[in-house]
Amino acid sequence: MTAKSPAKTGTSLANTTKALNAWIELDLDALANNASVLRDAAGNATVMAVVKANAYGHGAAVVAPALQAAGIERFAVVFMSEAIALRRAGVTRPILVLGHSFPENAKEAVANDITLTIDTANLAKEVSSAAIQAGKAPVPVHIKVDSGMHRFGLAPNEVATLAASVGELPGIVLEGIWTHLANADQQDDSFTIQQNALVEEAVQLAGPVPIRHIANTATTIRRPEFRYDAVRTGIGLYGALPHHTPNPGLQRVLSMKARLARVFDVGSGEGVSYGLTWRTERPSRLALVPIGYADGYHRALSNRGHVLIGGYRCPIVGLVCMDHFLADVTAVPGVSIGDEVVLIGEQGNETITAGDVAATIDTINYEVLAGLNQRLPRLAHSQGVLEASC
Ligand SMILES: *Cc1c(COP(=O)(O)O)cnc(C)c1O
Repeated sequence: MTAKSPAKTGTSLANTTKALNAWIELDLDALANNASVLRDAAGNATVMAVVKANAYGHGAAVVAPALQAAGIERFAVVFMSEAIALRRAGVTRPILVLGHSFPENAKEAVANDITLTIDTANLAKEVSSAAIQAGKAPVPVHIKVDSGMHRFGLAPNEVATLAASVGELPGIVLEGIWTHLANADQQDDSFTIQQNALVEEAVQLAGPVPIRHIANTATTIRRPEFRYDAVRTGIGLYGALPHHTPNPGLQRVLSMKARLARVFDVGSGEGVSYGLTWRTERPSRLALVPIGYADGYHRALSNRGHVLIGGYRCPIVGLVCMDHFLADVTAVPGVSIGDEVVLIGEQGNETITAGDVAATIDTINYEVLAGLNQRLPRLAHSQGVLEASC
């Protein structure tokens, strides 16, 4: 992940991006601020940083070590492959896998000190024997309750049965019982209260565990009574918010930027991009932005989205291609090739957030961020000095 980056740490961000067509900037001070704000919001609960999906598109290889340096004590991802990538990136603290794992994964999980969420006695058995073999006993595992969202997890009575199997096996210990909330970002908390009651039932049946955890970002901020022993915060760490959630002081971490690859004038009535779906209605100045849907910049933004150029909000015209799109800069004075374009972030007095992009195309900020692909280098900086990249 580091090979493609031209970045040299310690140099200025401005210098580093001079000869880049497109890139993503990560503000490490904002990230550290968010970790601290969420630790305050979590009260006595431990913050588990959710860095799945490449840290919501931000770049887990940079974000996770930075969060660890900022004092975050636990991490969570969805797949074991993501957990192993975190170990390679230097994360030494506990990592919980929230998604499904196979019995065949047990050995590698134990070897890398990765905590699995188990859903079968067979998987428990494999973790147990891997733990004994590796001399790492007791190895912690968690069990997820299906508390009504009906995605991954077990019913409370099944949790109790599996917990009893774990209790009989050597080298393995039940550390956590958890669930995921379906309506955490809605004003009506009645379903959250029902889900919490089912987790309570599972804990009653299975016996107490050191770490009960149900809260995501929205619940951590909105409902202190559901923080229990740990909270799993994802989106908030990145300075974005779920619906109906007040901002306790979180700051946007990510900016997505490019440099204009061409600025040119065309006459009235000219078609633009694939399908010629947009036509100039006057002599126009157009600017070519070297980012496309291959970078996770949605094709649905065609003829709908805006970008910032020269401090102005400029409309995207024509279809977003795999690697390029065009913006109409007719109204912007003095635009030239190499000028900085902001797709997400700030320029002059204007800001575009991932939430703004999401609203334009009827999705949520989570999808816009998690969809950012690998091609753009992630440049992490503090006060404009490059600190890390991936
Ligand atoms: C993604 C995820 C989270 C984090 O949710 P946010 O709303 O981003 O804080 C927590 N728990 C589980 C199981 C998840 O999949």
